[in-house]
Amino acid sequence: MEMEAILAEVAAAVEPHRGAGKVASYIPALAEVDPRKFGIAIVDGQGRYHCAGDCDESFSIQSISKVFTFALALERVGPVLWKRVGREPSGSPFNSIVQLERENGIPRNPLINPGAMVVTDQLIGDRGADAFVEELLALLREEAEDDSVFIDDRVAQSESETGARNRSLAWFMKAFGRLDNDVETVLSAYFRHCALAMSCRQLARAALFLAFDGRDPVTGRRVVASRRCRRVNAMMMLCGHYDNSGEFAFRIGLPGKSGVGGGILAIAPGKGSIAVWSPGLNAAGTSQVGAMALEKLVERTGWSAFV
Ligand code: GLN
Repeated sequence: MEMEAILAEVAAAVEPHRGAGKVASYIPALAEVDPRKFGIAIVDGQGRYHCAGDCDESFSIQSISKVFTFALALERVGPVLWKRVGREPSGSPFNSIVQLERENGIPRNPLINPGAMVVTDQLIGDRGADAFVEELLALLREEAEDDSVFIDDRVAQSESETGARNRSLAWFMKAFGRLDNDVETVLSAYFRHCALAMSCRQLARAALFLAFDGRDPVTGRRVVASRRCRRVNAMMMLCGHYDNSGEFAFRIGLPGKSGVGGGILAIAPGKGSIAVWSPGLNAAGTSQVGAMALEKLVERTGWSAFV
């Protein structure tokens, strides 16, 4: 069946559910988004786009940015990264603090908030937060083949103003000596990368290298080494949805990453990259309608990480 027809089926299947779930309100700027929005984009190995709904509207990618920072850190920082962050599923919400106390300030994995802060701290190194944020933005623009990808400073500011919880996590790790940079330096970079604004089309395109063993199949550019790409996908499969990761793997069977802006990135190895967006979240912060759409998509395409 043609992808366009499959996407029409997916859109029809979610139509009665549009608006379901709860829009994140702990970051006030995110609460302003229309809960009925729904978009999906798929990019395949030939660079062909298949899109439906609000696929060209920018949304806040939030924690999906952790996939890109993690991939960059694997490439740049190398194995010493694993002295600061683990690689086990957390079984806890993204902003949980209890595990940090039990495990000497070492976050369970790079895809929960404290894990991503450690990754960000390592990527900042001694060059300052701005240089790191600029580099990340440049990478995403290049891989999305679109210079209109931007950082929404209003969202970053809004999260910073209400960021007591993330500040606690960062200070807690600082107390264990797990962050090299100042807490506010790390947080300023973290809030900004979470505030990256991208459309489904841009996001799916930017992550295409993850579906093709670390190499952009359209430009031929190697973004990360093949073995590192596999590790990013492994972490997405195990930890991409926090304490909802098992459910996502069970229902969808693809490496994925959610963000509280309502986006989900899913990787179909060897097939393509998928971005879906619908702002209403389930209790774990994964887009409710987005997950539903992906479930329908894999049912119709037969895509799975396990075939
Ligand atoms: N910026 C958000 C936070 O730190 C990201 C959380 C998410 O998308 N799951 O709370």
